[in-house]
Amino acid sequence: MLCKEDLALYGGKSVRDKKLYYGHQWIDEDDIKAVEKVLRGDYLTCGPQVSALEEKLCKVTEAKYAVACSNGTAALHIAMMAAGVGEGDEVITTPLTFAASSNCALYCNATPVFADVDPETYNISPQSIREKITDKTKAIVAVDFTGQAVCHKEIRAICDEYNLIFIEDAAHAIGTKYDGKPVGSLADMTCFSFHPVKTVTSGEGGAVTTNNKDYYQKLLLAHTHGITHDEDLMEETPEGSWYYEMIDMGYNYRITDIQSALLMSQLDKLKKFSDRRKAIVKRYDEVFSKMPEIIVQKEIPESDTTRHLYIIQLNSEKLTCTRREFFDAMAAENVQCQVHYVPVYWFPVYKRLGHKKGECPNAEKIYLNCMSIPLYPLLSDSDVEDVISAVKKCVEAFRR
Ligand SMILES: *Cc1c(COP(=O)(O)O)cnc(C)c1O
Repeated sequence: MLCKEDLALYGGKSVRDKKLYYGHQWIDEDDIKAVEKVLRGDYLTCGPQVSALEEKLCKVTEAKYAVACSNGTAALHIAMMAAGVGEGDEVITTPLTFAASSNCALYCNATPVFADVDPETYNISPQSIREKITDKTKAIVAVDFTGQAVCHKEIRAICDEYNLIFIEDAAHAIGTKYDGKPVGSLADMTCFSFHPVKTVTSGEGGAVTTNNKDYYQKLLLAHTHGITHDEDLMEETPEGSWYYEMIDMGYNYRITDIQSALLMSQLDKLKKFSDRRKAIVKRYDEVFSKMPEIIVQKEIPESDTTRHLYIIQLNSEKLTCTRREFFDAMAAENVQCQVHYVPVYWFPVYKRLGHKKGECPNAEKIYLNCMSIPLYPLLSDSDVEDVISAVKKCVEAFRR
């Protein structure tokens, strides 16, 4: 039996010498060559790599259209714009997410409304969505939290019943399938992020996929100043080939050819990355699901998940420590965890809008007990066993 003093935090020897972080990108020589080729070519932006990337994203997600953009937050913003979200509208989302999922509603002067999550899957609860619908509700931003697909069947039914637009924040979920269909082909619009901590990366980058041509055209306009070169969309007859029109308000949310080449090279390895993430999750599940001190995330059978985060919840009935103590003890063992996420409406910006603690009790309870342990494809089998040893060591030392 270990005691607290055996933990590195209290003077003991740590499980590892070198620190592991909760996530890390994997860049190989092919990625570097792909970028180098673009740097030696004619186009750094607005060139052929961007359209090739969009085609590839359509292939990977089985969506009809894809618009690549500068980051996942921009993807959410242009999806809001394409959905026509504006002042007076309400957008329902989860508080257990990165702030961008609800900030995008604020960008459009709309009101974010938070629905609570399911206590076992941690994804937005369809029942809670129903309770938050008013005659002002315009759209739902459903987040595939940790990569697990939201329950599409139920959310689609709600959207059909109340005439709402279904936007999926799939920043965690590229590579995930729901009922055999890839995320990206299912919601009205699906938003991706390619930040380095996500499954595939372009440094910064994002995309929206859709099967709807009208949304597609609006997304294109929104991500490049509302400017079109398409004569059919213009009000005036073009005077010459230089002529373009700004027909909507828009932003510069474009991705570069440099980033596009990197992301295409990364997408070639999506299956490899995804398989390795699944294997690590399987090993973690095997060990942690048998430990009464640890609560693991429940998977719905419809989701074939490429997991972005592995979250453990501490069972406070079985442990003497606070989450902070466990987190710090893991860090001292050289396993640096992270916490996903502080409920978005706890932040000062949202408090100023009138939100209060207690709004979504399930999300708050998960936040208070959770931490994300290392999960990324570059982890070796022995790294994974080190993470497991560190968790076991901390559990033993803090067992009630
Ligand atoms: C990362 C992330 C975003 C934002 O993506 P960026 O590319 O960093 O702008 C949005 N939503 C969720 C759930 C995310 O994890």
